[in-house]
Amino acid sequence: MADAASVKRVARRIVETKRAGHDVVVVVSAMGDTTDELLELAEQVCENPPARELDMLLTSGERISMAVLAMAIADLGEDARSYTGSQAGLITDAAHGAAKIIDVTPGRIQEAIAAGAIPIVAGFQGVAQDTKDITTLGRGGSDTTAVALAAALKASVCEIFTDVDGVFSADPRVVPAARKVPFITYEEMLELAAVGAKVLHLRCVEYARRFDLPIHVRSSFSQLDGTFVLSPEAIATAISEGKAMEQPIISGVAADVNDAKITVVGVPDKPGEAAAIFRALADASINIDMIVQNISAATTGRTDVSFTCPVGSSKKALEALEAKRSAIAFEDLILDDQVAKVSLVGAGMRSHPGVSADFFTALAGAGINVEMISTSEIRISVVTRVDDAKRAVQALHTAFGLDADGEAVVYGGTGR
Ligand code: ASP
Ligand code: MG
Repeated sequence: MADAASVKRVARRIVETKRAGHDVVVVVSAMGDTTDELLELAEQVCENPPARELDMLLTSGERISMAVLAMAIADLGEDARSYTGSQAGLITDAAHGAAKIIDVTPGRIQEAIAAGAIPIVAGFQGVAQDTKDITTLGRGGSDTTAVALAAALKASVCEIFTDVDGVFSADPRVVPAARKVPFITYEEMLELAAVGAKVLHLRCVEYARRFDLPIHVRSSFSQLDGTFVLSPEAIATAISEGKAMEQPIISGVAADVNDAKITVVGVPDKPGEAAAIFRALADASINIDMIVQNISAATTGRTDVSFTCPVGSSKKALEALEAKRSAIAFEDLILDDQVAKVSLVGAGMRSHPGVSADFFTALAGAGINVEMISTSEIRISVVTRVDDAKRAVQALHTAFGLDADGEAVVYGGTGR
């Protein structure tokens, strides 16, 4: 909801759904770029804002949305009641800025539904069980609020409205021929969310999988069906009932440019060295993604170890390793932030040979050099130069037959 006009559009949509005979609970995110603007305001008044106060500030964005939306619904003649995360029973731990939901006690929401009202809940926030302070769930956390509330209320579906028509086989801004994926499993969605597809918050998908709650990702600008995120069993049922087509081998391609590559040069090639490196990083709470160790040079008995981590923690990683330079006896550290991770995801990989061969053939055809490789059962990821990422995604999208005939519609704005 970017402005008054979109608030009214959303209100109409909610009222239509309610009048079609559904019980509706709404979770809102902040309007437009409100959250970013609040963050900037905090930085202007304080170099290092206290986490408790930052959360209090940021949650106000969603509180503006909830009250304004409730008013717009009242204007259409329905009874809407807004609730903060705390009032809605979103109980979290006390990790400000990245709180985890530990319980949902939506008594007031159930009362409102029973009274025929439409509850409007502020997303992305809760209240800490121990400290009773207001917390936030991390950027994009409104999705998680919605799924957690839907699960606690035993809703039949959680509809997540965004600015595109659903989950696409690639970012439509990068690949105009990207196609909407009508059905996708939780597992595939988790892999895609983890490797840079920004449609859904990773934790919301984990939550939905845990409670087997169907998610429907769709656009508030159109009445079209979007993407259903379901269990493999639910998709099999949809196929047998003729509601879904046979699932493709590959569901999507994504690129993530938020990782950096660090190389530890000249590590003595003997037992315990890798352990020392990754222990130092773990102690500094650095999340490692890919790891590669070169063959050691026989003449020196030394090897190079490279790994990727989020760009944001690369400085901390270098410091943690630097502190162990003499203990580990490595020769040098090299930071490279001009890398991207390009990934192909599809549950069909499990049972179809040749996916890796086609993957590397497509990259070779586009003249793209691969620096690191990692795989899971349903994903292949490589590290490339950041400048090659876009071409890599396009080449893979075409090679795996994912290109659609028309162009995907992006309705504009970030809308998150
Ligand atoms: N408003 C919060 C954010 O911008 C939460 C959300 O959008 O889901 O991160
Ligand atoms: Mg927001």
